[in-house]
Amino acid sequence: MLEVLVINCLDDNYSYLIRDKKTNTVGVIDPSEFKAVNLKIEKTYRKLDFILNTHHHNDHVGGNLELKKKYNSKIICSKLDEKRIPGADIKKNEGDEFLIGETKFQVISVPGHTLGHIAFYSENSKIIFTGDTIFSLGCGRIFEGTHLQMLNSVEKIMKLPKSTLVYCGHEYTKKNGEFCLSIDETNIKLKERIKNVDNKLQINLPSIPITLGEELETNIFFRFEDNKVKNKLKMNNASKLEVFTKLRNLKDQF
Ligand code: ZN
Ligand code: FE
Repeated sequence: MLEVLVINCLDDNYSYLIRDKKTNTVGVIDPSEFKAVNLKIEKTYRKLDFILNTHHHNDHVGGNLELKKKYNSKIICSKLDEKRIPGADIKKNEGDEFLIGETKFQVISVPGHTLGHIAFYSENSKIIFTGDTIFSLGCGRIFEGTHLQMLNSVEKIMKLPKSTLVYCGHEYTKKNGEFCLSIDETNIKLKERIKNVDNKLQINLPSIPITLGEELETNIFFRFEDNKVKNKLKMNNASKLEVFTKLRNLKDQF
């Protein structure tokens, strides 16, 4: 069994403290900064065995070196990013597996936002940490990869079981929801979700995690083959890459 604690970092980043209950093995996903993460560790598990990075951006690795030094943690990241991730120890490729205690994780390569971006997926725990690839109701900006790479990455995630819980790197859900609604105006499930998100944010609760099943029904970046969406964009005969690219470009200007 895996326990997950959400840590608010910087302006709108989320880091996640995870603990394999049986073995008391502790990890953190994307420590944006030392201070907030350390405070949470001091209040809870008082140890940190592993640091897992989805990609090299500073708002995801900012706490790496200080945490590693204080807790003698091992840093797990993509082999492609070994030179860009501060303190990289254990380098992984697509499909590689590793254990946090007895919880098995699989590395899924998801290029697009950056070329070395990876997601951490645990089939048994039904959980995925997506970094800046998939957000609640959104997807990451394409900085290094191509739209085709990002589309392929999104499709990899779409194929996972619907009950998978998605933990992403930022609290962008409200703004993302507004964008989804601007295109998918008649989606009742989307409207319900946006209401739900507003309620949570109003009382300072994170809008995540969210199940993949809910995302599939409401996140516009998963709906590039939906006829209503294509119709709205006047792209009825367009390929999924063309529709996905259009959506990403519209979001960049939203
Ligand atoms: Zn990023
Ligand atoms: Fe980020």
